[in-house]
Amino acid sequence: METEGPSAVSVRKASLTPKAIIFQKFGKEARYTVDEVNVDQNGCPGLAIPQKGPCLYRCILQLPDFSVVSETCKKKKDAEQSAAEKAIGKLGIETSMDNPSAEEAFSKLIGCVKYLFSDEFLSSLHPLSGHFRAALQRGGDLYSSVPASIMAVCDSKLSNLCKLINPEAELNNILIISYIMRAAARLSESVVTFEGQLSIWRKNPYPPNIIESLVIQQSNSPNSICVGAIYIPCSLEKAIQSVTLDVSSTGYYLDVIARKLGLTDGNKVLVSRTLGKASSEMRLYFAAPKSFFLDLASDLPNVKEVAHFEGLLNPRASYFYGQEIYGDAILASIGYTWRSQDLFHEDITLQSYYRMLINLMPSGVYKLSREAILTAELPLAFTAKTNWRGSFPREILSIFCRQHWLSEPVYSTVSMPFEASSESSRLHQKLVVPESAEREKECIKGGGNATSGQEPVRCEVKLFSKCQDLILECSPKELHKKLSDSIQNASLKVLSWLNAYLKDPDMSLEKLNYSAGALDIRFSPENFFKKFALCRSSHNVHHSESQGGRFLKSNSINMLDAIPEHGVCCLSIGGPDFGVCPSNGSLLFISYSVSLVIEAENMKELLESKEEFEFEIGTGAVISCVEAVITQMSVGQSACFNTQLPPQELILAAADDTARTRSLLSSKACCLEYSISLLRMTEPPEERMEQALFSPPLSKQRVEYAVQHIKESCATTLVDFGCGSGSLLDSLLDYPTALEKIVGVDISLKSLSRAAKILHSKLNSKLDTVIPRTGITSAVLYDGSITVFDSRLRGFDIGTCLEVIEHMEEDDASLFGNIVLSSFRPRILIVSTPNYEYNVVLHKSSLTSQEDDPDDKTQSQSFKFRNHDHKFEWTREQFNRWASELAARHGYSVEFSGVGGSADTEPGFASQIAIFRIGSETKEDTRNDEEVTHHYGVIWEWDSSNCSRSAF
Ligand code: SAH
Ligand code: MG
Repeated sequence: METEGPSAVSVRKASLTPKAIIFQKFGKEARYTVDEVNVDQNGCPGLAIPQKGPCLYRCILQLPDFSVVSETCKKKKDAEQSAAEKAIGKLGIETSMDNPSAEEAFSKLIGCVKYLFSDEFLSSLHPLSGHFRAALQRGGDLYSSVPASIMAVCDSKLSNLCKLINPEAELNNILIISYIMRAAARLSESVVTFEGQLSIWRKNPYPPNIIESLVIQQSNSPNSICVGAIYIPCSLEKAIQSVTLDVSSTGYYLDVIARKLGLTDGNKVLVSRTLGKASSEMRLYFAAPKSFFLDLASDLPNVKEVAHFEGLLNPRASYFYGQEIYGDAILASIGYTWRSQDLFHEDITLQSYYRMLINLMPSGVYKLSREAILTAELPLAFTAKTNWRGSFPREILSIFCRQHWLSEPVYSTVSMPFEASSESSRLHQKLVVPESAEREKECIKGGGNATSGQEPVRCEVKLFSKCQDLILECSPKELHKKLSDSIQNASLKVLSWLNAYLKDPDMSLEKLNYSAGALDIRFSPENFFKKFALCRSSHNVHHSESQGGRFLKSNSINMLDAIPEHGVCCLSIGGPDFGVCPSNGSLLFISYSVSLVIEAENMKELLESKEEFEFEIGTGAVISCVEAVITQMSVGQSACFNTQLPPQELILAAADDTARTRSLLSSKACCLEYSISLLRMTEPPEERMEQALFSPPLSKQRVEYAVQHIKESCATTLVDFGCGSGSLLDSLLDYPTALEKIVGVDISLKSLSRAAKILHSKLNSKLDTVIPRTGITSAVLYDGSITVFDSRLRGFDIGTCLEVIEHMEEDDASLFGNIVLSSFRPRILIVSTPNYEYNVVLHKSSLTSQEDDPDDKTQSQSFKFRNHDHKFEWTREQFNRWASELAARHGYSVEFSGVGGSADTEPGFASQIAIFRIGSETKEDTRNDEEVTHHYGVIWEWDSSNCSRSAF
């Protein structure tokens, strides 16, 4: 029911969104219809492959007198706001309405309160109208009285107006209540208020016909409802408890909650905003201040907090809520909604309470998203989207902000013009100069999935309070190829820092500053502590509480069966050891179970288990003791060990029977027992390994090697066999060469469409710039298998085939070799493929078992290749034999070279390369020169005279 906060796009100073303004004016008469818009690809006309493209939305807003159409937006929500904004423009709503004076807002507030007490409102479907109906069930003096506290939280119109009167109302519920009471006091002809009472009565009874229609509806509802709720005592000595709210259909649930809190009636209860999910009805209930002075004399915006709470600060409830709460509190999920006239309710169990509690920490959100509370941990590094498991950092940060009542994170990019990116070293320098003129800042609108071509990006993120005070900003130094990776990286840094703080809120400012610096974060201590100060006073509570279960001292901690720095003891590892241990970047599959062990009683209680759990090693994606043990294991082995208890909330959030587990924890000395089996592992992807080990990356070195030969050969025509996403073709546009025509062939439509987009944007943009030193006049991409001949690619000056043959079966690689040299017959052919012998360097794992018998590929073959898609990887000898025989057969000469490493040091180059050159006394091709065979499909075609056109 809360209106949406300011969108991530525009940072507006706390005011109403366009939609909220339209709602205030037209209510339900404003109708929004959102349509999906089919976008005409992402700027690559002529691409003959159907593209899904990003989904865009357009919204039509119908108002009584006219309708407007929004801009196209990436999110439905943004489209609606855009439509509302246009409508506001059309209506000519004065800009002063964006920023009405406190007096204007207050007079609107009076109007709104008046409407709530109208006949019409009583039978409407509104979260608040249920309370007005229930008020008619209340007896005695309470009959027809509605607590102001419920009005303050159930009608966003009221609270928004209060925020316009005084922005502090955003964080101060009491202020909202006091404005509502002041408004009611001006409505003496229709409502009644009493001195010192925080509720409002309707003056005259509702007409009998309205009451009668309500009675008919109510007779359908059940007599009594039992709702499971949580009691959070103010005193830390007392445990969190489950309580049952017995709500009868002829009463008001707020009165039931009040009695549980030891209060006489619901008018004395304060209600929090909703917690958890946006649609949830979960709120905290606690006693209203005993004395409350309505300061009618003061100026509106200067109304002071005039409440005096009697109870003590409730640290657990305050931490949970993020604002101070006094006295005992009840957490319940109950209330009226927009959807139905009936009372909505859900049980809250102790387990769900503890889950919500840990969900307040970034690591808790991550643990829950992986359903591995006792085992998973928020990773410290974001390596690749494909290796990440569980909720992504951006998502977690967004959840964190919602939980802690902050604005949505604001992302922006710092990007470089394309030309600068060809030399990465130069690029780096430019970026570290803080106010470099080349910097281009742009706001990321919406999803942030759009990559800005191939240029490397850096992304910054900022967190703001709901009042738009800057809390922190993170501007990572790392460059990313993809914008989305850069966003994830920045989000994770912020999460890591917040997590470290929340784990140890008493950390000194120096330490906090230091850790912020290490994560490229700058924060405003004033705004940060204003927001998170509560964690200081209350979070420790959870830690001291968690010490309840004392650590079981192992009789003799033998250094061999323990990893003390990770809290591991009694470690045993069983099963055959193949000597291949996981290395950083590997993806591991484990099965595990965690039990609570009470040794004195020989008791074991299963807490958490998973048959298959996958994570990336080396990023801290599991708790440190699990990672420490895993790195000593090989596939097929199992381990068992004990650890000290983690904070109690974690155990209780994991345990099914929370009450029983809690009593076990408090009564006996216990520890956790982990048993883990390492099921499978996959080596880190080729590309990442190459990037980590080579500078420039191996893929780049290959392309540069080919470009060099292309330049020297003075070739005017080139075909790239297995061009993939066009990395070579793309690079060729950056260098002056003699090339006029470039062609790529591949069987992957996905890769081809990526290649087409890159080439398209580059070729067309280059037309208008001064840079084009390339003489390329034609570029074509074909869909087809390079093991099949197509006469259009015959007799080119140069052919390239980089890292492709190992993706085919060995027979096909030979078939390709024969066809290319016998039929395509390029003057020069460059073929590269991994050098299998070099893998020892790449994976630090030993290859001894395989070197004994290189043909035995049965054993753990999948770990040995650089990429899952590789069908083979050849030794230098195997490659030499293949290429030499091939060359001899077709009248070519061949020489060998490579990139990464060197020919003279073992184990040779990382990527081995063969360069074939056509012989002078050319053997005649068996095919007729004139024969026309078209087996390939044109996917995309570009022509300098024509720009680009489709083949179809
Ligand atoms: N040459 C590119 C891509 C290498 S990945 C580069 O260096 O970046 C290997 C590529 O070979 C993939 O794009 C795959 O689709 C392609 N490929 C595999 N078998 C093929 C075949 N029979 N015909 C055409 N392309 C093939
Ligand atoms: Mg490959």
